[in-house]
Amino acid sequence: MDVNYLPVLRIRQYPDSILYQRTPILCFTKGEAYADIADILSKTLLLAKGITLSANQCGLPIRCFALRDKLIRKVFFNPEIIEMHGTIEHVEKCLSYPKHSVIKSRHKEIFLKAEDPYGVEFGMELSGKASIYAQHSIDHLLGKDLRK
Ligand SMILES: [Zn+2]
Repeated sequence: MDVNYLPVLRIRQYPDSILYQRTPILCFTKGEAYADIADILSKTLLLAKGITLSANQCGLPIRCFALRDKLIRKVFFNPEIIEMHGTIEHVEKCLSYPKHSVIKSRHKEIFLKAEDPYGVEFGMELSGKASIYAQHSIDHLLGKDLRK
């Protein structure tokens, strides 16, 4: 699909209640494809100039987030951290809390297991900001309050 013809989603901000609801794990057994969701989430992230964006930040109760940095442009469905190394303190900003920034302790590097929009499993090693904001996005998908 040509991303230019897609609308974008409205990013929900504090105190929207969808931010505090744990998203259900997606079941791909019925053969659904979520390619359109992946495209529209990626486009919204691009226009918002963020690093990651979770579907529930856009009002969609779906367990997935988009990641965009210099090297990686990817959408992770059912993301799960399998391995982690090191810790780092980091001042985090969030598109859903534009007036807050919070110091968080994160893993420096993670290995993430996830599925693509068709339910095909893949793994990816992330470091730097990609690792930090992937952990941030997984917190969103679990309904955590990012100010804490
Ligand atoms: Zn956030």
